[in-house]
Amino acid sequence: MPFVITEPCINVKDKSCVSVCPVDCIYEFDGEPQLYIHPDECIECGACQPVCPVNAIYPDFEVPASQEKFIALNAEKSRALKAEKV
Ligand code: SF4
Ligand code: SF4
Repeated sequence: MPFVITEPCINVKDKSCVSVCPVDCIYEFDGEPQLYIHPDECIECGACQPVCPVNAIYPDFEVPASQEKFIALNAEKSRALKAEKV
C-alpha cells in the first residue's frame, strides 16, 4: 500500500516531500509535470503526507476516486523512468 502523489502536485513540485522521505523513493524526472513515488521502494511511513502544501499525497487506499489514475501513473512512471536513468 504505497503512498501516491496526485494531481495537486502538478506544476507545484516544491519538493517538500523529498527531503523528509527516509528511503529517497520520491522522484523528480526531467520533463514530468509532477513528482512520483516508487511503489516498490516506499516503506509507507507516512512522513511525506503532512508536509505537502497542496495535499497531493495519499496512501493508495485513500486516494480520492477522481484521482485513482494516479496510482498506476506513479507506478508506471517511476519504474520506467528510473529504469531509463540507470
Ligand atoms: S510514505 Fe514514507 S517512504 Fe513512502 S514516499 Fe512517503 S516518506 Fe517516502
Ligand atoms: S510536497 Fe506535494 S506539491 Fe511538493 S513535490 Fe511533494 S507532492 Fe508535489
